[in-house]
Amino acid sequence: MKIVAYGIRDDERPFLNQWAEENPSVEVIGNSELLDDETVVDAKGADGIVVYQQKPYTASVIDKLGEYGVKFMSLRNVGIDNIDADAIKRNGILVTNVPAYSPEAIAEYTVATLMALLRRFKNFAHKEANGNMKWAPDLADELNQMTVGVYATGKIGRAAIKIYQGFGAKVIAYDIFHNPELEAEGMYVDTPEELYAQSDVISLHAPAVAENEHMLNDEAFSKMKDGVWILNPARGSLIDTDALLRALDSGKVAGAGLDVYEDEVGIFNNDLGSFDNIPDERLKNLMKRENVIVTPHIAFYTKKAVKNMVYFAMNASKDLNETGTSDKLVKF
Ligand code: NAD
Repeated sequence: MKIVAYGIRDDERPFLNQWAEENPSVEVIGNSELLDDETVVDAKGADGIVVYQQKPYTASVIDKLGEYGVKFMSLRNVGIDNIDADAIKRNGILVTNVPAYSPEAIAEYTVATLMALLRRFKNFAHKEANGNMKWAPDLADELNQMTVGVYATGKIGRAAIKIYQGFGAKVIAYDIFHNPELEAEGMYVDTPEELYAQSDVISLHAPAVAENEHMLNDEAFSKMKDGVWILNPARGSLIDTDALLRALDSGKVAGAGLDVYEDEVGIFNNDLGSFDNIPDERLKNLMKRENVIVTPHIAFYTKKAVKNMVYFAMNASKDLNETGTSDKLVKF
């Protein structure tokens, strides 16, 4: 069989090569270009393709895949909203995704960010850069004395809970679906408002759906404890950025760790040359603050996760070819 992998980054290539060595029966082509109207021709003769891109998988590209007899399309990520579903159905292409490549990567990142905030690492780094080695005024907080409110207890939320508990924090949680083990531990509160009222730290792990767009807005912040810490390694749209800036200004929010930002597309994972070139004043405002840590959507970016994204997608493509199905099949 032949698999053409598109959009292979330099950091993915060693894992792709390793997979190819371990699967000598499969011809593997690693293409660094994304899949589009121009590059789709490279899929000629392939049984399956492996892809990962924010750019749309358009009807014209998918029709071409169908014309070339490509039967399988395996995503190295989760999201399928940029795929033209009608074209997929029309061409009878089977699609797989990778729903979890390392929930622990995102969970560890989240707690690392919180610890950096609580221990004032950014404040000390700035002082040290100016030769100021004094302690005051950056007195830290301890996580073991805090209540952490975990909003959404899916794969990542549950991995984060384990780590928070390891630090000795009290954890409470909210989710529209209750995980039976956490339920048995009595971890759930009934409403987001209860979570807001009781938490010293709010750790967001919900997907971006219409119901929770800007869920953290002025009203939500007003229901939180004074000096709450906010962590968002989930999706930018969960937070109303203007409301967060107001809550930071007033001191309602003590600080925030943000791996995602509502207007991140086109900015994150790009080298813009200088801080001044960042074309977003609200983002720069957040980044300049000592009590805010902004990172460009890197929580997932670990060796284990990147390897899993490549391996799980390649394995799914091979499974589809050999057995006609895969445990990672997506329904359209
Ligand atoms: P998951 O599907 O395992 O869990 C999602 C949980 O959210 C489920 O328990 C679900 O019941 C709950 N949920 C859905 N809608 C809700 C709502 N309106 N209110 C409360 N709970 C709700 O997902 P996951 O793998 O744990 O991922 C969680 C989030 O992390 C997703 O938004 C994902 O996009 C994001 N993520 C970020 C990165 C990164 O690098 N920063 C990487 C992977 C995933």
